[in-house]
Amino acid sequence: MRVHNFSAGPAVLPEEVLKEIQENLVDYKGNGLSVLEMSHRSKQYMEIIESASAMLLKIMGLGDDYKALFLQGGASSQFFMIPLNFCADDKVANYIDTGVWSTKAIKEVKILGKKLHIAATSEDKDFTYIPKEWKISENAAYLHITTNNTIRGTEWKIDPEVPAGIPLIADMSSNFLSKPMDFSKYDMIYGGAQKNIGPAGATFVVLKKSMLEKINPNLPSMMNYDTHVSKDSMFNTPPTFAIYVIGEVLKWIEGNGGLMGMLKINEEKAAYIYDVIDGTDFYTGTVVKEDRSLMNIPFRLPTEELEKKFIAEAAANNMFNLKGHRSVGGCRASVYNSLPMDSAKVLAKFMLDFEKVNK
Ligand SMILES: *Cc1c(COP(=O)(O)O)cnc(C)c1O
Repeated sequence: MRVHNFSAGPAVLPEEVLKEIQENLVDYKGNGLSVLEMSHRSKQYMEIIESASAMLLKIMGLGDDYKALFLQGGASSQFFMIPLNFCADDKVANYIDTGVWSTKAIKEVKILGKKLHIAATSEDKDFTYIPKEWKISENAAYLHITTNNTIRGTEWKIDPEVPAGIPLIADMSSNFLSKPMDFSKYDMIYGGAQKNIGPAGATFVVLKKSMLEKINPNLPSMMNYDTHVSKDSMFNTPPTFAIYVIGEVLKWIEGNGGLMGMLKINEEKAAYIYDVIDGTDFYTGTVVKEDRSLMNIPFRLPTEELEKKFIAEAAANNMFNLKGHRSVGGCRASVYNSLPMDSAKVLAKFMLDFEKVNK
């Protein structure tokens, strides 16, 4: 029996996808070998990676002025690759700070000694909201935002307006492909696959080709986006199996109504849990309502004691990974694309039952 898995990442994958992989694990579609054993340059594998990147752009509604890459090193490596590639010494890297992950991205800019400008921050209220105004510096290299704050549970509901000519770059690790968005407003989108579109080990980067002109040419090959674009993610051995799984998840997204379909089920799932939080004083949401994430739902109980009990009893009832991130405490339910509707319903019911007994 499968558990109800509310992990923030690596996270739940669609059961259909897991079964499809299982069926083809030992002998991939009659080729007589596993994807795990294929040369990344073989014809069979080229088909897998090419169709995954084509499908990614198709789902995003982007044309061939963009390039989809699958890299390694996690979203965390993008934190330093972005300023290395796109922030020349006379330019200023602009960031909006919405908590832990964006703060980590900012830290890398400082380590590299680049000029930094914080265009806005929600630190004044402990990162419980998304800034509604921002001020971009002179000579900006780009503006960087984090569209969903996995730990805090806030999510951008709009695409920020940026003056013409200033690239907009977004870490979309934890809400990528969870809803329709105008991706063409962004010059670069990236994230770790392990939250919403696949397993750990692959990092997606979707880059507008016009960004290639801005790249610092004096970088080690692996650090330079141009290397990966010109070699179609094949400069070195890519994370072949992770990319294969991503391709299967993308097919699943397409088969379930694409991004509109994802939005619909995600709204319904999140509503089960937010409705419980809003219907009582026992559970407290930790962020302002209008900025609530559809993907990560943090909440508190009246005491830490009760939170411990809640997490333990949930686990005894087949619901796992409900502990908040160690940096903020409390509880958190991550309800990504692949989480079955039933898991959200079961958790909402458990929350109501737990309240009755413990209030
Ligand atoms: C998880 C996460 C990261 C870090 O991703 P890694 O692939 O582990 O480096 C970065 N940004 C956000 C928003 C995340 O949720």
